[in-house]
Amino acid sequence: MARYTGNKCKLCRREGMKLFLKGQRCFTDKCALARRDYPPGVHAQKRTKVTEYGVRLREKQKLKRIYGVLERQFKLYFREAERLRGNTGENLLMLLERRLDNVVLSSGFALSRNHARQLINHGHFRVNGRKVTISSFQVRPGDVLEPTQRDGTKGIVAEAVEVNKSQPVPTWLEVNGEAMTSKITGIPRREDVPHPIQEQLIIELCSK
Ligand code: SF4
Repeated sequence: MARYTGNKCKLCRREGMKLFLKGQRCFTDKCALARRDYPPGVHAQKRTKVTEYGVRLREKQKLKRIYGVLERQFKLYFREAERLRGNTGENLLMLLERRLDNVVLSSGFALSRNHARQLINHGHFRVNGRKVTISSFQVRPGDVLEPTQRDGTKGIVAEAVEVNKSQPVPTWLEVNGEAMTSKITGIPRREDVPHPIQEQLIIELCSK
């Protein structure tokens, strides 16, 4: 699947909030949003009235940008969320949370979402003992994630574990930093999603 390769900090500035796309840099005063707290672009500082549609669109863009999915893939997730039983908004968040790149990041095995993707694409992770190279792979309860046996991989993951050691781990993951394993113990619930997203606005936009 395609991915956004442009300036990530501009995405945060556009959304007016930290999307945490650059790992540890996002927690320092080098964060672009801390220095330029206004949208990018020549005319972006003009005052314009935000329409209802605009509010909903921004919410959708925010969600896509946090999880690094582009429009086409997002539509597939939305369709799947509608098909599943239960609340469509919660289903959508649950599908995004269960992406392998998100699990690698939430387990503290990578420094940023892009780093997680790169490690997965280069074959550095196994799920239930089998190498998986697809970032959008959906994990299931009972799955166990671990780095491959290669020394290089273990070194990279150990470094990330050390950097992320103070990061809270979601309740649906059981992470063993020393053994470098992460077990999926359940399905993520709405309260496990750490991002301030109003999914109802996205549903209103996409259901039309
Ligand atoms: Fe966003 Fe991180 Fe850049 Fe700050 S440093 S603007 S949080 S990507």
